[in-house]
This record gives sequence, C-alpha cells and structure tokens, in this order.
Amino acid sequence: MTTPDTIFGKIIRREIPADIVYEDNLCLAFRDIAPQAPVHILVIPKNPIPKLEVAESNDHALLGHLLLTVKKVAAQVGLTNGYRVVINNGNDGGQTVDHLHLHILGGRQLQWPPG
Ligand code: AMP
Repeated sequence: MTTPDTIFGKIIRREIPADIVYEDNLCLAFRDIAPQAPVHILVIPKNPIPKLEVAESNDHALLGHLLLTVKKVAAQVGLTNGYRVVINNGNDGGQTVDHLHLHILGGRQLQWPPG
C-alpha cells in the first residue's frame, strides 16, 4: 500500500512548524494544535503507517516503541497523576490525519465514555 503524504509528514521534514517535545530515530512527539486537554501531545512514527488497521506483524517493534515513547513523554511533561492514550482509526474512529498517531491527553480529569 502506498502511503500518502500528510501534514504530519511535513512536520517530520520540518516543512511546517510544530512544538516538538521529543524525537528519536523512529518517532516524533509534538503538541496538538487544537488541544482537548491541558496537555495534548501526538506521538507519530517517522515511517508513516496510514492507520492502525493497516499495521502489519513486522511493525510490532515499532508499535511497542510508540507505546513506550508515550510513557517516556508523559513522564517528561509531568503527567504524574495519569493520562489517556487514544488512537483514532478510520472514519468511525474520528481519524482525520492518515498517519498513525497516538494522542496523549492529560492535565485534567478525563470523562468516560468518550463521545
Ligand atoms: P485524529 O482526529 O485522531 O486524526 O487527530 C489528528 C490531530 O492532529 C487533531 O487532534 C488535530 O488537532 C491535530 N493536528 C492537525 N494538524 C496539526 C498540526 N499542524 N500540528 C499539530 N497538530 C495538528
């Protein structure tokens, strides 16, 4: 499957600005431009996967790395009282950018269930 370029690709290539809070050779984390909580950060793989449902078995190490990066970034930005991790997948999931991303939401008491 070919992977279309997205706004997140432009952020990775530094073609548009973003408030980057973490980077390593596999992924990038930056603050969401329309935060839904006092802390709202997106963690994305540099090698784009359009959405979770098209991830393959050989992506397992990358997917694990993304989750461990969530933990690292959450600690780095001081989310000591908990946080939520969200992956929106496809239309019904509310995904709007076709580049896999993990939302980190925190800094307030979050409600459940989401809308
Ligand atoms: P989703 O709805 O799960 O696809 O989430 C996409 C997220 O990307 C939304 O929360 C947007 O606010 C966020 N977003 C879109 N463009 C940018 C941007 N240029 N910089 C930071 N976040 C963005």
